[in-house]
Amino acid sequence: MMRAARAAPDAIPDETMTIDFETYDDDNIFARILRGELPSETVHEDEHVLAFRDIAPQAPVHVLAIPKGRYIAHGDFHRDAGDAEIAAFWRAVASICRDLDVTRGGHRLIANQGPDSGQIVPHFHVHILAGKPLGPLVAG
Ligand code: 5GP
Repeated sequence: MMRAARAAPDAIPDETMTIDFETYDDDNIFARILRGELPSETVHEDEHVLAFRDIAPQAPVHVLAIPKGRYIAHGDFHRDAGDAEIAAFWRAVASICRDLDVTRGGHRLIANQGPDSGQIVPHFHVHILAGKPLGPLVAG
C-alpha cells in the first residue's frame, strides 16, 4: 500500500525523514559509540546495556539508555531480543534512575520510533529525563 505524502511538522527534524527504519545501520551514531569510535559520558554499562548523557540535554538530567544489540527501535527490540536481554534492559533503566537519584523527584522515559516521533538515531534508545517539572507530554 502506498504511503500518503505528508508535510513534516516543524518539531520533527528534517533528517528523520531520510532515515531507513527498516534496515539496521551499523554506522549510526550509537553503534559507533558502542564500538568506542565516538566518545560519550557513560553513566552505566553492563553486558547488555550502555547508558550515557545526551549531547544536547533537554532537561537537567538527560540520559540515553541503549541495548548493545542491533535494534532500530522498540518495535524490533521487543520482537527480536531474547527475554533475558529485554529484562536486563528494563532492569538497568530502573537501576540507572535510582543511581541518578531521580526516583523520588520523578522522571520521564521516552522511546521514539520512526518519523512521526522525530527519532533521529536509528538504534533503540530510551531517554531518561528529569531534574525539573517536565511539562506536557507532547509539545505543541
Ligand atoms: P531521538 O530523537 O532519536 O529519540 O533522540 C536521539 C538523541 O540522541 C537526541 O536527544 C540527541 O541529542 C542525541 N544524540 C545525537 N547524537 C549524539 C551523540 O553523538 N552523542 C550523544 N551523547 N547524544 C547524541
